[in-house]
Amino acid sequence: MTNAQNTYAVKVDGKTVATVAGAKQAESVINQLIKEKSEEIGRQVSLVQELEISKVRLDRKAVVDKDTLRQILYPLLTYSLEGAVVKVDGKATFAFESIEEAEEFLEKLKEEYTIDPRGVITFKEEIEVVEMPVQVEQVTTVQTALAEVKEKGTIPTYTVKEGDTLWDIAYGNNIPVEKLEELNPDFKPELMQIGQVLRLSDIQPIINVVCTFEKTVEEKIPAPVEVKRNSAMLQGQSKVVQQGEDGLKEVQYKIVAKNGVVTDKVALGETVVKETKPRIEERGTRVLVASRDFGGGRLAKPSAGAIVSPFGQRWGRMHTGIDLGGPNGSPVVAAENGTVVRASWYAGYGNCVDVSHGGGMVTRYAHLSKMDVSVGQSVQRGQVIGAIGSTGNTTGPHLHFEVLVNGSPQNPANYL
Ligand SMILES: [Zn+2]
Repeated sequence: MTNAQNTYAVKVDGKTVATVAGAKQAESVINQLIKEKSEEIGRQVSLVQELEISKVRLDRKAVVDKDTLRQILYPLLTYSLEGAVVKVDGKATFAFESIEEAEEFLEKLKEEYTIDPRGVITFKEEIEVVEMPVQVEQVTTVQTALAEVKEKGTIPTYTVKEGDTLWDIAYGNNIPVEKLEELNPDFKPELMQIGQVLRLSDIQPIINVVCTFEKTVEEKIPAPVEVKRNSAMLQGQSKVVQQGEDGLKEVQYKIVAKNGVVTDKVALGETVVKETKPRIEERGTRVLVASRDFGGGRLAKPSAGAIVSPFGQRWGRMHTGIDLGGPNGSPVVAAENGTVVRASWYAGYGNCVDVSHGGGMVTRYAHLSKMDVSVGQSVQRGQVIGAIGSTGNTTGPHLHFEVLVNGSPQNPANYL
């Protein structure tokens, strides 16, 4: 063993990586590496690996010099510093140079999603800052961490089971079918297979900021509508008796926002600031029907005289209205509200006025000596529209009055 001398093994985590001639030599190389790293990042660092220098007996020819030792150790060693980690639900997720930086990161994250300064800001996840050694290459900056917290989150997924339909999956996970299709553009429902994995949402941040606050909002109270029945107006007609006015109320809400997006809104109470004024509408209920028994459906008598000739067969031909007697020039009034659709000479009817009342009903006033209305004019029940005469096919002055429903003559006596 004449060639055997004392040599030193350099072990990294228990494994020999080199043999050197002297222990001091090895120590100085290691110390130099630590010093350089500390200077590089401006903080005192420590080795992560366990280093051991121990005496061994070995052929001197196998030993390496300082430069070679440095080249061997350089890629093997990693360093740590006294920093801090942010744990998310118990898992160390972000490493910082200091506890101050870890706290600054969390504060900035909160600030970014503080919708209301009086709100309570919390994290959805359990967050803990722990002061501990962190590996130099894992240390991140506040800015990088703020970006990564959003970009490196998780995407909730669903694995297709036997019997699933697209609708089941969407409904079961509380998202619209369209959103599910949008999140999975390559997915074809008709080719859905058991075990296929579908995205259920966009990326979810690693840490979610929840802001809970109260807010008072002014809201309009729509004016209520009150409907009154008016038997003096025809069915289908209506008029506004009172214009409504909207009211105003202050509503206190408890609002929950996740990452700046409102996810829940609960009304806590409200105060009426201005009462509403109802809109009141009158709607006509009067119906024109061929029945003496119907109290609401009467027409006004178009002239004062008695019925001198009834509706029906007369002298072998049909009398399509009734004749009301009266002297020449006595007033003729509209039997109901309506619109004048004829006011002209009309063959045997002579001067003839037709008034349409809607619903297919028209009243006709014939043999008039004069006409006081024109086509298109609105007339009111009882309004004078002309005067009794004997124009057209007649033997003397009288009013020939007809009630036509969808063009077919009805017995006017049933409507008066
Ligand atoms: Zn007649």
